[in-house]
Amino acid sequence: MHFDNSYLRDLPGTYLRLAPDVPPAPRAVVVNDALAADLGIDLAGVAAWASGAELPAGADPAALAYAGHQFGGFSPQLGDGRAHLLGEILAPDGRRWDLQLKGSGRTPFSRGGDGKAALGPMLREYLISEAMAALGIPTTRSLAVVATGEDIWRDSGRLPGAVLARVAASHIRVGTFQFFAARGEDDKLRALLDYTMARHFPQAEGALGLFDAVAARQARLLAQWMGVGFIHGVMNTDNMALSGETIDYGPCGFMEAYAPGTVFSSIDRQGRYAYANQPLIMGWNLARLAETLLPLFDADADRAVDLANARLEAIAGMYRAEWLGVMRAKLGLWGEDAGDTALVDDFLLAIQGVDWTLAFRRLAGAVQDEAGLLALFDDSAGLRAWLPRWRARLRPDAATAMNAVNPAVIPRNHLVEAALEAATAGDMLPFEALLTAVRDPFGPEAGREGFTLPAPQGFGAYVTFCGT
Ligand code: AMP
Ligand code: MG
Repeated sequence: MHFDNSYLRDLPGTYLRLAPDVPPAPRAVVVNDALAADLGIDLAGVAAWASGAELPAGADPAALAYAGHQFGGFSPQLGDGRAHLLGEILAPDGRRWDLQLKGSGRTPFSRGGDGKAALGPMLREYLISEAMAALGIPTTRSLAVVATGEDIWRDSGRLPGAVLARVAASHIRVGTFQFFAARGEDDKLRALLDYTMARHFPQAEGALGLFDAVAARQARLLAQWMGVGFIHGVMNTDNMALSGETIDYGPCGFMEAYAPGTVFSSIDRQGRYAYANQPLIMGWNLARLAETLLPLFDADADRAVDLANARLEAIAGMYRAEWLGVMRAKLGLWGEDAGDTALVDDFLLAIQGVDWTLAFRRLAGAVQDEAGLLALFDDSAGLRAWLPRWRARLRPDAATAMNAVNPAVIPRNHLVEAALEAATAGDMLPFEALLTAVRDPFGPEAGREGFTLPAPQGFGAYVTFCGT
């Protein structure tokens, strides 16, 4: 591992240097060999260096400062309360990755928290982030989960503790900008902007250029989430990365039966982060980012606000265009037609209450034979009226093209829960089997029914809890 810790070097005063806790009995539970190979990471001694037991040579651990709007309310000081950035590693292809430990002990940002993480939620982040990567969606990646050998206490009782080692294009969040803007630390804000541009958007010109590039990546990311039915669950501004990667997997999950208002998180009582609200929240979060950049948009305050407003007004259209692109691909359409929005909207009306993933996947099968698709519906009248309109728009290789973008396998909620429960009890086999399945999302449905079918009726409404 070759470290080069530019964040610490270039952004003094934006973090606190401190070492992670040393766990009593670290034991690697799952290790991502393929990712390690890609990044040129030698896995020797992984249980020690991926848990805080030993620091790899060149690591310079620190907790980063950030603020954030949580469920709409501003918290001026959040920061890494249970995470340590070990530093940045340079991959063989020259790309720079943050290597971070999560669940690695208290920091001055911990507030009332214990700085720790339970094995279940860390395995959950590992599994879902691997699924997202396999689906082709930008995401932070998971390198290893190491059980610490220490028990921790949560509402549900005593749980095995664990540390997740993850890599990210960076950990710069909307909340990172908010932290310095809220404190009026203009020099640090400016340094953060310059740093972010150099690291992620070297082509962008000035603060406006950076904002446009971030907005474009977010619009694309959200369209991809919506395409696969991903519900992040806690889209606070501190959980939105400027790199455009999906970050901070907590109470997230994949929608099964299509319902725009779907919410899994137990604490999201108003449905702020419901499935269909996510693109709006993305726009809201980008408005918070724009606020922090106003003085850098233009020295004249009125002009800065005008520039910001023009951009914020354009976000909904940008997102719609990305979303339509995703939907055209999912439906296997040929080129572009003015009627496509209506075609997509009418399909979505027809599949209300039907399994989102299988409705699209089996639509590909329906190019040849509609039986598998129709079997998903109690009442298929609306769908049958729609199918001829769709057939008239199909690209010649539709079935193949659709199977390459519509997954057969997503991490089904009931399987995730069963895998994490077994893992917490010491049996990793269900987790390993599910991980293998979600890493091949576009493979065939046949022969993998245990992974492709929705939760059985008895599973009931799915509720997730914050990954603390
Ligand atoms: P999250 O909801 O996981 O994105 O976390 C929001 C904030 O709470 C971040 O500042 C975290 O570092 C902090 N946090 C979450 N869990 C803990 C914990 N167990 N101990 C200390 N801080 C935590
Ligand atoms: Mg977070």
